Amino acid sequence: MSWSFETDADFQAQLDWIDEFVRTKVEPLQFVLGSPYDVKNPANIKLVRPLQDEVKRRGLWACHLGPELGGQGYGQVKLGLMNEILGRAAFAPIVFGCQAPDSGNAEILAHYGTAEQKERWLKPLLNGEIVSCFSMTEPQGGADPLIFTTTAVRDGDEWVINGEKWFSSNVRFADFFIVMAVSNPEASPYQRQSMVIVPADTPGIEIIRNVGFGAEHVPTHAYIRYTNVRVPADHLLGGEGQAFVVAQTRLGGGRIHHAMRTIGHAKALFDMTCERVISRETKGRNLSQLQMVQEKIADSWIELEQFRLLVLRTAWLIDKHHDYKLVRKDIAAVKAAMPKLLHDIAARALHLHGSIGVSSEMPFAKGVIDSFFLGLADGPTEVHKVTVAREVLGAYQPTTDLFPSYHLPRRREHAQALYGDALEDLQATL
Ligand SMILES: Cc1cc2nc3c(=O)[nH]c(=O)nc-3n(C[C@H](O)[C@H](O)[C@H](O)COP(=O)(O)OP(=O)(O)OC[C@H]3O[C@@H](n4cnc5c(N)ncnc54)[C@H](O)[C@@H]3O)c2cc1C
Repeated sequence: MSWSFETDADFQAQLDWIDEFVRTKVEPLQFVLGSPYDVKNPANIKLVRPLQDEVKRRGLWACHLGPELGGQGYGQVKLGLMNEILGRAAFAPIVFGCQAPDSGNAEILAHYGTAEQKERWLKPLLNGEIVSCFSMTEPQGGADPLIFTTTAVRDGDEWVINGEKWFSSNVRFADFFIVMAVSNPEASPYQRQSMVIVPADTPGIEIIRNVGFGAEHVPTHAYIRYTNVRVPADHLLGGEGQAFVVAQTRLGGGRIHHAMRTIGHAKALFDMTCERVISRETKGRNLSQLQMVQEKIADSWIELEQFRLLVLRTAWLIDKHHDYKLVRKDIAAVKAAMPKLLHDIAARALHLHGSIGVSSEMPFAKGVIDSFFLGLADGPTEVHKVTVAREVLGAYQPTTDLFPSYHLPRRREHAQALYGDALEDLQATL
């Protein structure tokens, strides 16, 4: 039997290096640069590229990818330990080559892309030279992909795309978009849509506006219109009608990476809160001496440790089974717990900091709004909870009896039948 909560010494040395590097060199970037995804901005090139090179030299670039794609092929537990450090800095994922949505897009290009698509899109994406966009959600709804109406119609040797997409992140910086569109309205619902690669400079693409998320100072989520956008037929990613299968693959390894990074984000806010409450006085007493403050600190610490254990255990299960279907319940549980964890820790941090906590001079309001992003971007929390409940209940059997199988009179009757004679024999000998 093996059961361990320890990291081996070699990997711990890597983690210690990552921690120091992120704190000293990566965290400051968010205070002097705009969006991490603005990879062609001269300032980003000047400051970010040397750090990416350092990460590459250290063998820590794009660790979620297999060696054939230039990564380390780390399992999810190692990625978990690494990502919980990266989660504290906005630029860390891009510096380590593992930022969403590019990591997922790279995954589907690696899986379904033709040799030409890989050469043209995957290679520069993996090198960090370009970024990409996943254009799926529509203004009329995102949680239910069956209501999407954007079309891709075959015309000779081209696909012609028409429709509107909503919250397509990073369109303004991306070199290409992976667009989900109805290619055969007559097919069965899950075979109606296809994925098409659309180069960003294709005529007919119109950014209606870039929508800001929360306090984002560079609005990056595009409301975008595709009008007679023509791409060559070979720009289909995967087979025709395979959009749902491709979308599932896209979630592959990245299924709980947001959760891993959320641990780092929440821990950073928690650390700030601890410093504050041991530093601030009210009515002659330190905030940390007040019981209701202590309760908030204890609740945050306990919730963070609980969530971390759930994430790491789920990562361990993914590594063990190599079959996401067997870990569906655990992954859904992680996704359902994630927004609440960040929300509660960010909200306590904000409140315990008082007026400065609610101000734009502190990162707590952003933490609170980020928690809502976590409850949406990977699908609404409700959907994940339904998955957990369905999987959990699937392991139980209903009773056909009028009273429950655990009804106490029945259990007493059963116990009596099992041990009654032995007790009577004992009674007779006393
Ligand atoms: C920061 C951010 C970045 C994003 N980036 C991208 C991107 O790059 N590309 C992209 O395509 N999309 C992106 N999205 C969109 C995201 O995928 C959608 O927000 C998500 O799928 C939900 O769709 P919706 O916003 O239309 O909400 P709706 O589908 O309208 O759902 C609204 C609410 O209804 C409830 N609800 C919905 N379905 C159910 C259900 N089955 N059971 C119970 N309750 C339910 C939930 O409370 C849900 O929050 C991003 C979103 C955010 C917040």
